[in-house]
Amino acid sequence: MAVTKVFPADVLLEGYELGLRDFGENYVQEFEGKAPLTGGLAGARFHLIGHLQSNKSRKAAELFHVIQTVDSPKLARRLNEPGKPLDVMIEVKTSGEESKEGASPEEIPAIVDAIAACPNLRLLGLMTMPPWSDEPETTRPYFRRLRELAERLGLRNLSMGMSHDFEAAIQEGATHIRVGTALFGKRKKP
Ligand SMILES: *Cc1c(COP(=O)(O)O)cnc(C)c1O
Repeated sequence: MAVTKVFPADVLLEGYELGLRDFGENYVQEFEGKAPLTGGLAGARFHLIGHLQSNKSRKAAELFHVIQTVDSPKLARRLNEPGKPLDVMIEVKTSGEESKEGASPEEIPAIVDAIAACPNLRLLGLMTMPPWSDEPETTRPYFRRLRELAERLGLRNLSMGMSHDFEAAIQEGATHIRVGTALFGKRKKP
């Protein structure tokens, strides 16, 4: 997946021209600004990969095809409400207290159940964002933990790995890598 956060819609369109079809964005509001330009791209899929507050869930359901950052039963129910079919992933905190975002592994079964009870949601798998390190081997254990968790739950897809550590993520079973900098260069601060 190409991560286009902070970059203007032109960059996204250029990526599409070159054959990219899956795009990751972090902020609902930012993507809302680009959506008029990117809405008509046949076959393109837009993934929300940033934290989602429940009060933005309706807008997010409208704009995105995949919400990778479901982290509570409540958010799942809110995403189900608009009635639009949506693919979702559960964001997992694989690193204990070190990271703020995502659900802890103990919370996952309740979220899986909540999603199963939502007729408009289809659960694809798990997503994680390990604590940042520029040494890919430091993040490998978190990728492995996510894979083991998904195996226990019978879930197929794993969204993990970014520009600096996607090789390790692929070795550990990633089905979705989220690459921004390595494709588009350094981002300015949002
Ligand atoms: C920004 C971001 C990425 C991409 O990071 P790069 O290092 O630019 O490849 C991947 N996942 C998430 C959740 C991000 O916020």
